Amino acid sequence: MTFRTLDDVKVAGQRVLVRADLNVPVHDGKIGDLTRLERLMPTIIELADQGAKVIICSHFDRPKGKIVPSMSLRPIAAAIAEISGRHVGFAEDCIGEVAKDAVAALQNGDILVLENTRFHAGEETNDPHMAQEFAALCDIYVNDAFSAAHRAHASTEGVAHLRPSYAGRLMQAELAALDAALGSPARPVMAIVAGSKVSTKLDLLGNLIGKVDVLVIGGAMANTFLAANGADVGKSLQEADLHQTARDISAAAAARHCEILLPVDLIASAVFAAHPPTEIVAATNVPAGMMALDVGPATTAALIERLGKIKTLVWNGPLGAFETKPFDTATNGLAAAVAAATQAGQLVSVAGGGDTVSALRAAGVAGQLTYVSSAGGAFLEWMEGKTLPGVAALQSA
Ligand code: ADP
Ligand code: MG
Repeated sequence: MTFRTLDDVKVAGQRVLVRADLNVPVHDGKIGDLTRLERLMPTIIELADQGAKVIICSHFDRPKGKIVPSMSLRPIAAAIAEISGRHVGFAEDCIGEVAKDAVAALQNGDILVLENTRFHAGEETNDPHMAQEFAALCDIYVNDAFSAAHRAHASTEGVAHLRPSYAGRLMQAELAALDAALGSPARPVMAIVAGSKVSTKLDLLGNLIGKVDVLVIGGAMANTFLAANGADVGKSLQEADLHQTARDISAAAAARHCEILLPVDLIASAVFAAHPPTEIVAATNVPAGMMALDVGPATTAALIERLGKIKTLVWNGPLGAFETKPFDTATNGLAAAVAAATQAGQLVSVAGGGDTVSALRAAGVAGQLTYVSSAGGAFLEWMEGKTLPGVAALQSA
């Protein structure tokens, strides 16, 4: 995978349009998590320090082509100013005269944030006119929004074809981590796919069985595989209509020399509540009236032992219903082992997915893996082997 980066371009005196992901969580007017903004800083600071005129654009929430004042990027621009310690200007429109005038007033090294790209319907329809408008604002385009790269929108894809385009430092780091995980990984490679439903992860499983050596299935998804093999799963969450699909996936994996590991024991409870009475049961025998809410201690121990022989780990999905204690036990135990092996230099570990990131944060190890992707849908589509239009537009021949 080759793509152009900031190493390939001189930006001094140039107008550089940076597509960022400023879609941070905001509650009651306060930004909940600054991670996305902090991760953007290396690109912004590097460009500004090299004398570029830095113009940042992004979507924010879902205004659906209309101006929605509560979805303005103005407060986010203020947060960027605070984090960077630089003056950051703001333009009340991302295209047209307002944007052009604001860009024309920039000096080398200045930073400007444009208003929400989704205030115009042409953003999401990838309207060529909208892409032209973005191109008119810049000499160079930099995409630093991997998390928005699975969408072919005017600011993520259309404009990239109209100007010399490059990956920003965050995009570069994300692509490098993904390449280390599945592109050209050190072997053997283990993937953990867990979470609630097989049905949402069919494409993921289909792609991974052709790429990894060991595929661990956990979470409620494992119940579907276990039941498909004839196990009693009691009243566990499972998808009875996917038993044949689960058997087909297992057969396809065997044909491609991908070993599938299912839980050997489970933690079961009669009720789904915090700290209920629980039982450790064999994975083949969840008693009637009980449900499996986590994988058991023998399974966790076996996975940790197996991890000792693994060079690369890809992880999507918590092993249990981690939001409700103590069903975070297996996820926390495995997460600690993954963090330790990574810190010891024995393992490349890449994880992603909305709930997976929450679970790893709750386990306190998110910073100790090789890479934890905050890209959500884009991360999953990449793991499914799909081409991301925003990344394809940056690829050099
Ligand atoms: P991600 O968002 O990381 O892709 P998923 O959305 O696929 O992950 O799965 C996460 C959800 O799976 C969590 O809400 C978790 O509670 C649920 N889950 C995991 N194991 C079980 C289980 N045994 N029973 C019920 N829910 C489970
Ligand atoms: Mg989820």
